Amino acid sequence: MIKFLDLQKINLLHQQEIEARLLKAFRSGWYLLGDEVKQFEKNLSAYIGCRNAIGVANGLDALRLILKAYMELGVMQEGDEVIVPANTYIASLLAITDNRLSPVLVEPDIDTYNIDIAKIEADITPKTKAIMIVHLYGRVIFSEELKALAQKHNLKIIEDNAQAIGAEWNGIKSGNLGDAAGFSFYPGKNLGALGDAGAVTTNDDELAKTIRTLANYGSEEKYVNKLQGLNSRLDEIQAAVLDEKLHYLDQENDRRKEVVKFYLDNITNPEIILPQLPENEKEHVWHLFVIRTKERDRLQNYLKDNGIQTLIHYPIPPHRQEAYPQLHHQSFSITEKIHEEVLSLPVSPVMTDEEIKKVVETLNNYK
Ligand SMILES: *Cc1c(COP(=O)(O)O)cnc(C)c1O
Repeated sequence: MIKFLDLQKINLLHQQEIEARLLKAFRSGWYLLGDEVKQFEKNLSAYIGCRNAIGVANGLDALRLILKAYMELGVMQEGDEVIVPANTYIASLLAITDNRLSPVLVEPDIDTYNIDIAKIEADITPKTKAIMIVHLYGRVIFSEELKALAQKHNLKIIEDNAQAIGAEWNGIKSGNLGDAAGFSFYPGKNLGALGDAGAVTTNDDELAKTIRTLANYGSEEKYVNKLQGLNSRLDEIQAAVLDEKLHYLDQENDRRKEVVKFYLDNITNPEIILPQLPENEKEHVWHLFVIRTKERDRLQNYLKDNGIQTLIHYPIPPHRQEAYPQLHHQSFSITEKIHEEVLSLPVSPVMTDEEIKKVVETLNNYK
């Protein structure tokens, strides 16, 4: 069977190096807020090109903490609005509503699956305080228009960079395009930990300090609590693994690009709508290779019967989720169409040429 993502194979690629780092962290006797986290934060901020990186417990917390810190700093308050793409993963919305902010959903562009920047301004109100862009499937969304729009309306740009680590726009890495960015190192992401992990990057030192404090019980000095914080720290073992794996990230993203090129050049079945390559290849790190087709479930079953595992990102849009009854009255035709038609094919740095060929042949034989 061709797995959607073979995590074991991915992590065993660098088995010796990772095991050495794990052992070192284990034997150090220091498991939180130590040197491994410091080193990873330093290397991550250097990689992104950004002044600050703060390790946190997961990607959802990274986004929650950015918004919570802005509220502590008086940039936004309960009931304010945050613009977010309607077709994002639920975590983007959870970060907003958890802070008692209000998500304002905007349709994506069907060609890129990213928020349609031209549709944002119509949804800006006096309560809008931020735009959360999501570099969905690994593709960067950014433009001079977006920057100008944020400036004009005095809005923060927050990047949900859970899926696009390593991507670039105009020579700037995703995670360094807006005011602050949240990263996820969930095991299946392009830079994956051996469990949950996340980070925030920002050039805003005051925001960084507030996030660091909030993530550690609201405390800067042990047992002295400045803020009502939470416990959301990156642990030493995960930081050590991530710091090691960061060395291989670009190389692994390049292999993903090779897989994708082969798919794009060789999948010819007219039933299948392929994702589009951005003009500048650096804008996409192909966390997911998402196709569209009219009878999606039939294609998924056909691929399964032929030994190819696929997933759907995502089957239910946020405004149709049971968790968000307050959004049920809204409708977003592009978003809904995407959720009915998308299917994610296997793509990873460890797929063999043989596997890639088999996926292509099987798809081309589908009728
Ligand atoms: C994975 C993901 C998150 C959440 O990350 P976790 O580490 O799982 O909490 C947020 N947003 C998007 C777009 C994601 O893909």
